[in-house]
Amino acid sequence: MEIILATFNDNKAREIAAIMAPIEVKSLKEFGVIIDFDAVEDGETYRENAFKKVRAAAGEVEGIIVADDSGLEVDALGGGPGVHSARYAGEGAAASDLYTKLLGELEDVPEAERGARFVCVVAVRYPDGSEESVEGECRGVITREPRGGGGFGYDPVFYLPERGLTMAEITAEEKNSISHRANAFRALKKMLLEKETI
Ligand code: IMP
Repeated sequence: MEIILATFNDNKAREIAAIMAPIEVKSLKEFGVIIDFDAVEDGETYRENAFKKVRAAAGEVEGIIVADDSGLEVDALGGGPGVHSARYAGEGAAASDLYTKLLGELEDVPEAERGARFVCVVAVRYPDGSEESVEGECRGVITREPRGGGGFGYDPVFYLPERGLTMAEITAEEKNSISHRANAFRALKKMLLEKETI
């Protein structure tokens, strides 16, 4: 079995290919297709964005098409920035702008109320046009200062209490075993492999 991943992010594609093995993961690049996914990601939910991406790709290639959308949900912000995580500090802002803004907004929030989760929704579209989605999460706590040089986005301020480290302080392998994306794609793999045996 193979799936076509609707992303142009090589790091994401590599990470997802490792999780999905033995299912083969192909990228749109291999089909010479170019889609501006940033222009497509304007939905109000992760699901909506993920489905928008698989549908855009389905117009270009044939096969089982998969796309993800993710974000950070902070309890004290009522689940924000959520689906707006990438644009939280304005268009084209750097990762440090994102988490600096977040730390500022949470300045008066006590330790016990700094809970958060990363969420990832994966949409899958089959060649017959039917669609499904799965979700993965990873819970943590927002720090008061950024820590660590790994990962990307909000990772330096996302503390994992069981490890005593932020998401930017653990190895890429460790992140790939516990992250919201890893959990969502593991659920997708289970679903696809179960279908294959029916
Ligand atoms: P997308 O799903 O790649 O569009 O991610 C949306 C935004 O959520 C990213 O730009 C990041 O700001 C944030 N985000 C998603 N996943 C992660 C992660 O694993 N670490 C840190 N930030 C993330």
